[in-house]
Amino acid sequence: MKVWGKFSALINGNIILNWHPLTQCCLVMVLGALVYILWIAWYIFVFSIPTMKYWMNESLYHSHLIISVIILIIFLLLAFLSCKFKRHKKLQKGFPYFAILYFGATLIYGGFNVGILSPATLGGYISLIFVGIVLFERKIIYSTVIPVTIFMLVCMVLSGLEKIPYAPLFSRELNQTILSENSFWIYSMLFLYAPIFIFSIILFEVLLTQWRNREAQIQHMSLFDPLTNIYNRRSLAERLNFMQVENQDYALILLDLDHFKHINDHYGHNIGDIALIKVAQLFNLHLSDGDMAGRYGGEEFLLILQNKTQQQAVLIAEQFRQYIEQEPIPLDSHYEIYITASFGVAVSEENVNKEMVLKHADQALYLAKNKGRNQVRSYTEVQEI
Ligand code: GH3
Ligand code: MG
Ligand code: MG
Repeated sequence: MKVWGKFSALINGNIILNWHPLTQCCLVMVLGALVYILWIAWYIFVFSIPTMKYWMNESLYHSHLIISVIILIIFLLLAFLSCKFKRHKKLQKGFPYFAILYFGATLIYGGFNVGILSPATLGGYISLIFVGIVLFERKIIYSTVIPVTIFMLVCMVLSGLEKIPYAPLFSRELNQTILSENSFWIYSMLFLYAPIFIFSIILFEVLLTQWRNREAQIQHMSLFDPLTNIYNRRSLAERLNFMQVENQDYALILLDLDHFKHINDHYGHNIGDIALIKVAQLFNLHLSDGDMAGRYGGEEFLLILQNKTQQQAVLIAEQFRQYIEQEPIPLDSHYEIYITASFGVAVSEENVNKEMVLKHADQALYLAKNKGRNQVRSYTEVQEI
């Protein structure tokens, strides 16, 4: 459980999509190197077992091994360079194109050698395009995918016309058998494709999880107030809109903290912020399900109560007035201060739009301020005056 927690913190705290492009290149170069290490290991292994060696083209052994090792060394060199020089302005622009093209070219070299139409080549081609498109800018991926695809098509046509050999790494005997019935070929395909498949699936899953989490974070940021973590004005407006469209009855409580400028001036902006957070916590703690509280402006909050009469809303407002009045705001470990708020209540009526109901609540709040603050007033009282 602990290990999983650490793993998930690493995944979520280390957004690969936000990495520097050259760090992303470094990751791809390391993956390329790992793939080639496994491929070289496979190549050496099959040549060490006589029954397997029979299916391989011996005349290419040394040249292919040397080329593969050189490719591996270049992968490691590129991984090192992309990490070392990631602050280099000129390198940042061109290097990703070069690195991805190198990655594509080396994998297609491997693919050509074991058969351009083989499951390992086609599987690798599809898996890597998916990961590449998520990880890099599209133009970087297209500038590799297009030449690689053209190269694959040309190879297919030429080997179909027998102008070039198909799967030169394998012996003539193997190429003449029915491949799908040859267990050496089947296991080799599985082994060659397995590393690409596993890396792609893991990377794709991590990228997708991080993408979803980032999406959820942005969604949260668009709905909630960053200081108090209750709904923001946009969310309040959306809810009011919805209630108006659905013709639902509602009551509004608009409240404004009293003499808040004085709190800021006297105790500091930081204490003012703590007071706002404390008030928001009271709403989270005491508001019924279905009702909504949000920050309407600086030190103004709006409560939207579903299906409540004015009488019920005044009672709820009165409760919150007392909660706020009794809530200590700590200045330090010894001292605390208390704040108050004034409340205006209004209810929805037929043929009265939400802007008007808000205006009524504001007028009631104005009355509460005028009558001496720290009290609840309703729009009915405004009308009576
Ligand atoms: P009244 O009783 O008439 O409402 O007086 P007031 O001082 O509360 O009213 P006024 O509108 O003059 O002052 C509101 C103050 O709220 C001014 C502003 O600096 C402060 N304020 C607004 N947003 C924030 C905030 O996010 N944090 C802090 N600390 N203060 C804020
Ligand atoms: Mg105000
Ligand atoms: Mg105020």
